[in-house]
Amino acid sequence: TTQIRLAARPVGEPQDTDFEFVTTDLPELADGQVLLRTIYLSLDPYMRGRMSAAKSYAEPVEVGDVMVGGTVCEVMESRSPERAVGDIVLAYTGWQTYAVAGARHTRKLDPQAAPISTALGVLGMPGFTAYAGLLAIGRPQPGETVAVAAATGPVGSAVGQIAKVKGARAVGIAGRPDKCRALIEEFGFDAAVDHRSESFREELAETTPDGVDVYFENVAGPVGAAVTRRLNKFARVPVCGLVANYNATQAPEGPDQLPAYLGAILTLSLTVRGFIQSEFVPTHHDDFLRDMAGWIADGSVRYREDVVDGLDNTLETFRGLLAGRNFGKSLVRVGTD
Ligand code: NDP
Repeated sequence: TTQIRLAARPVGEPQDTDFEFVTTDLPELADGQVLLRTIYLSLDPYMRGRMSAAKSYAEPVEVGDVMVGGTVCEVMESRSPERAVGDIVLAYTGWQTYAVAGARHTRKLDPQAAPISTALGVLGMPGFTAYAGLLAIGRPQPGETVAVAAATGPVGSAVGQIAKVKGARAVGIAGRPDKCRALIEEFGFDAAVDHRSESFREELAETTPDGVDVYFENVAGPVGAAVTRRLNKFARVPVCGLVANYNATQAPEGPDQLPAYLGAILTLSLTVRGFIQSEFVPTHHDDFLRDMAGWIADGSVRYREDVVDGLDNTLETFRGLLAGRNFGKSLVRVGTD
């Protein structure tokens, strides 16, 4: 197998020298294990946190270890009665071409039911994050306005489309004109605003004439601050991600925003609630799989994937994900499907 291992903890944007490519033999299969060939590797913003030693909700990757990540794989050998050679599975084998894993740590996919890559995107962890965070915390009501940034990504695009299913108005924020066009034409948002536009704040105000009732927080930074000024009384803010800060090496310059933010929480009676999607798996995952499959089938939810070929391109693709160079769910096609 060829692996990408963490060689040093990145400071700021991850550099090539923070990683090493290693080609090594895999151990013999033990009972209950399978040999997996990676077809798709998912790249997700949370991976930046795993590269860092800072305390988080999950343990960091140790220096010298293979970078973690969700994968879709083919079973090449099996010593488990539950998996047969040729099965396609969802696994968590990380940045490598082959891996040995416990069959219990894989989920068998049905390639007839949906393209296998969707198990890492709209029908996988990011789609579930949107579903659970929006419905359990955001609770959009018909006629309300839902705003979300990183809106063409797998989480944001699902948030806006589920909001529409629930009868709300969806306003998407994205970082390029072509992404903003896709929000309206492809994903059916009611309005789109480019956060790199010089008149971003004015455009945000124009596209949210009745204020914002649910702000699904994916990014924080100046975008989050601008949307906070549009929040209505009793607005809900599911805090899902802070991608604007992930490569930051120090606190932002300028006045301390926290007093004003706490003031808004108090005077507007806001509900600001962070979450990690796994919290909602026991209560919402079955409903998610049923609802999302239905919405994809009836056309109410569309998805977009940004597939890059070759494990060699993983790191550059990951840097692009944090900088907004991806357009849709970021995937590396490690092997042929
Ligand atoms: P995306 O594919 O949407 O990629 C991240 C996007 O963030 C970029 O494409 C870019 O889009 C946008 N972005 C980057 N920097 C900034 C910035 N400074 N200001 C505004 N936008 C920025 O990622 P995902 O859909 O996979 O994830 C979205 C968020 O959800 C992330 O914060 C992630 O960490 C979080 N998440 C949280 C989970 C949880 O359990 N809490 C689970 C899964 C994801 P653009 O060009 O439009 O600016």
